[in-house]
Amino acid sequence: MKKFEANIRKVTPYTPGEQPHEPDMIKLNTNENPYPPSPEVARALKEMDPERLRLYPDPSSSVLVEALAGFYHRKPEEIFVGVGSDDVLAMAFQTFFQSEKPILFPDITYSFYPVWAELFRIPGRSPALDEEFRIVKEDYFGENGGIVFPNPNAPTGVYMELAEVEEILQHNPEVIVIVDEAYADFAGPSAMELVDRYENLLVVQTFSKSRSMAGMRIGFAVGNPVLIRYLNDVKYAFNSYTMSQAALELGAAAVRDERYFRETLKKITEVRERTKRELAGLGFTFPDSKANFIFASHESCPAEELFEALKAERIYVRHFQGPRIGNYLRITVGTEEQMAALLAFLRDYLEKDSGKRRKRDS
Ligand code: PMP
Repeated sequence: MKKFEANIRKVTPYTPGEQPHEPDMIKLNTNENPYPPSPEVARALKEMDPERLRLYPDPSSSVLVEALAGFYHRKPEEIFVGVGSDDVLAMAFQTFFQSEKPILFPDITYSFYPVWAELFRIPGRSPALDEEFRIVKEDYFGENGGIVFPNPNAPTGVYMELAEVEEILQHNPEVIVIVDEAYADFAGPSAMELVDRYENLLVVQTFSKSRSMAGMRIGFAVGNPVLIRYLNDVKYAFNSYTMSQAALELGAAAVRDERYFRETLKKITEVRERTKRELAGLGFTFPDSKANFIFASHESCPAEELFEALKAERIYVRHFQGPRIGNYLRITVGTEEQMAALLAFLRDYLEKDSGKRRKRDS
């Protein structure tokens, strides 16, 4: 180690999913939306004036904030926007988790949480999910320095009913509770409807999944204006211009096209339900996902083997190492055609595989 390294900050970073670019690949590994963004986004992109890029963007991001306020029937003071929900969540960790008591998040969850906790030196504790991969709400009733969990949870896809989210809020009036709703548009009602009653609630969402704009990096939070003000103070203490002019204009264009948004959501949830039935028929088990992915394990073929076999076919899914989850694949819900190709490959592979197993066993 060089001497100067003694004073360098060292962290264990988050590992994002692979981003291969192969012409005929089927990419089901990072929960992107298989459909393009709204045609309104394409139109806004064409009409964007390059001269506008000469100037700094509006630091208050008002075009986007106002579009979101209109869509969700909130006040602009209740909305904070950032460079993907990762940026919003990182900012929220820094702003709201300043207690010396440990923050709470599930043991199986979005693996960025422990990374931010380490980066910002926030103590953390991770209660275990139950046997069916559900968050046990009572684990979050005791003393803590703040709470964060995704709903639906990732990578399990399990959705917690709002009544249970509300119970967690009722037990935690003294800390900030962050509900990460990256996948909520594919699930049940959003906790946004609880914001009026719980001033310690921050709901975080993203344009990366349900609005098909992962490449543009847009996320947002909805909460009490006091929380939003604190978040903005931290943002302005860090970088006044987090959002590019392109992200602001194109994001606003996406929000204005509600019909397209509803249509793509419907297609994805329908394909998800059909895929669940097919996977079950092939011997897979999975928690009942309400997200745009399915977290599935096969009764006889190990996840790692399937992951490699799929990859060789240029079908990319995600496989996580770790106790309890190492034998699962997280499969993003793609188009009907993509899922048909995945299922056809699995059917064929598992048939040959069980033939091999039978031969071995006889
Ligand atoms: N939260 C969860 C639970 C996620 O799975 C993701 C996607 N990796 C994010 C937040 C961040 O998404 P983005 O930064 O693209 O908005």
